[in-house]
Amino acid sequence: MLLLRVRSAASQTARGFRSFPCSAVEVKNEPIFGFKEGSSERRELQEALSGLKGQTEDIPCVVGDEHVWTSDIRYQLSPFNHSHKVAKFCYADKDLINRAIEASVAARREWDMTPVQDRAQVLFRAADAIAGPKRAEILAKTMIGQGKTVVQAEIDAAPELIDFFRFNAKHAIELESSQPLDSEGSTNTMLYRGLEGFVAAVSPFNFTAIGGNLAGTPALMGNVVLWKPSDAALSSSYAVYRVLRESGLPPNIIQFLPADGPVFGDAVTSSPHLAAINFTGSVPTFKRLWKQVAQNLDTYKNFPRLAGECGGKNFHFVHGSACVESVVKGTVRSAFEYGGQKCSACSRMYVPDSLWPEVKRGLLDIHQGIRVGDPVEDFSTFFSAVIDDKSFARIKRWLDHAKSSPNLRVLAGGNCDDSKGYFVEPTIIQSTDPKDPIMSEEIFGPVLAVYVYPEKDYKEVLQLIDNTSPFALTGAVFAQDQTVIDEAAKVLRNAAGNYYVNDKSTGSIVAQQPFGGARASGTNDKPGGPHYVLRWTSPQVVKQTYVPLTEWKYPYMG
Ligand code: NAD
Repeated sequence: MLLLRVRSAASQTARGFRSFPCSAVEVKNEPIFGFKEGSSERRELQEALSGLKGQTEDIPCVVGDEHVWTSDIRYQLSPFNHSHKVAKFCYADKDLINRAIEASVAARREWDMTPVQDRAQVLFRAADAIAGPKRAEILAKTMIGQGKTVVQAEIDAAPELIDFFRFNAKHAIELESSQPLDSEGSTNTMLYRGLEGFVAAVSPFNFTAIGGNLAGTPALMGNVVLWKPSDAALSSSYAVYRVLRESGLPPNIIQFLPADGPVFGDAVTSSPHLAAINFTGSVPTFKRLWKQVAQNLDTYKNFPRLAGECGGKNFHFVHGSACVESVVKGTVRSAFEYGGQKCSACSRMYVPDSLWPEVKRGLLDIHQGIRVGDPVEDFSTFFSAVIDDKSFARIKRWLDHAKSSPNLRVLAGGNCDDSKGYFVEPTIIQSTDPKDPIMSEEIFGPVLAVYVYPEKDYKEVLQLIDNTSPFALTGAVFAQDQTVIDEAAKVLRNAAGNYYVNDKSTGSIVAQQPFGGARASGTNDKPGGPHYVLRWTSPQVVKQTYVPLTEWKYPYMG
């Protein structure tokens, strides 16, 4: 529900440049639907899911208003039933990407000069469409294409995306009223211009909302964008792109360009018009792009801005004073929801020997009840298959490592099967070596590694958590003892960009927990927070003087 409340339209037209209305916008977090048996949202979702059953959607590249097909045809497969081709699409080649760059740059000026209130309306309308008539379609495409359960699709593709659009539109409008001081006889005005050039938005497979935000927010701020969606999220990404267009986004502002990653990366980083990269994905991909930008630095008109939100090796630290029930249930959700394919998923846990028997019993009890399967046919599925054959093979290597290493013991799960879909069992592994790679590297699958420590050594364990992994995305501390909570906060100050006390490491909400981490986890630009929109502007300050200059000498000169 959106409430537009216009404060006194503090128009300052007499002062030339400052003619914008100074408005404050109230928005609230979109509620999460429950999808209970008999509810209207469940009925609508089931209708959308059955409409997509066995279907293959044709998805072109879109440059301007033109739908383009190249000869490089690809398919998006459903992770839990890889015989189902969800989408047929094509890869943009270098020429098409360059054509898209030219068309975008030509459209930039007019879009940048469009008042922010008008640009914001596109996002408000898109948010309303996703909250209403388009919700079931986008959810169904996220479930079938990315293998999400009902609730995981809902929290991602509805409230998170809707909140990104509404809150960023609000922040963009409110930014206009953040102005410098005037002085006698002159005014100062900050113009929040878009970046000169184009923004390359490169999105991951795991969140429909992230793709919409990576492309949509720079566009909101007056930029033109080339959006390269993930091959494994094509269907939902195209649905979001279409909603934006149907909500009034003009052609050429966001170009929709499925492409081979390196082909796209090479093309955008070699264009002199590259103004920014808005990336979410893995560390190696972001490092490659950063290096290419560095190598091409002399060719750019501007210094490109690089925003990258990358991986994590997120921890749950458990102190002897912790509430065991919260630890067990929070860890099960964090480690296994969406098959551990959230960048914030807990994948290393540190438990004191005093609590371990109880924690272990709790984890193993729940493990027996976790259903892994087809999230469309069976709504009681807790998580489904991992995204594709490459992920499956990578996770399988970790399971093989666990089975063959003398430091590791598989306590539960450990098997996988890709005959129908890319299914991996929820797996709990105990490590006697806190430095084993399973405790430090991102796995991105339903695998939880546990290190059991002597309770008295918890201070050393906090240091261990801080220096075991190159990542610093999310982490959680479970303790009832306030001294320990305070102590942990100091030691782990740089170990996580999103830090939780007595809560699991996943589940950030736009405007409540703006998201991102530092170290290898990225540039920590905090999408979902009020500062994010600033990243996509290049402000110009205009001083206008109303009193003529009548003297060139200074008084002290006599
Ligand atoms: P990925 O790096 O494989 O791919 C991300 C995107 O980059 C895809 O669109 C891919 O096609 C593209 N790409 C690949 N090579 C490229 C190149 N050379 N140039 C340009 N683009 C290229 O990541 P993924 O598997 O899609 O996503 C999983 C990763 O994303 C995990 O590491 C996860 O932790 C991270 N992630 C982080 C956050 C966060 O907010 N920190 C959120 C979601 C996902």
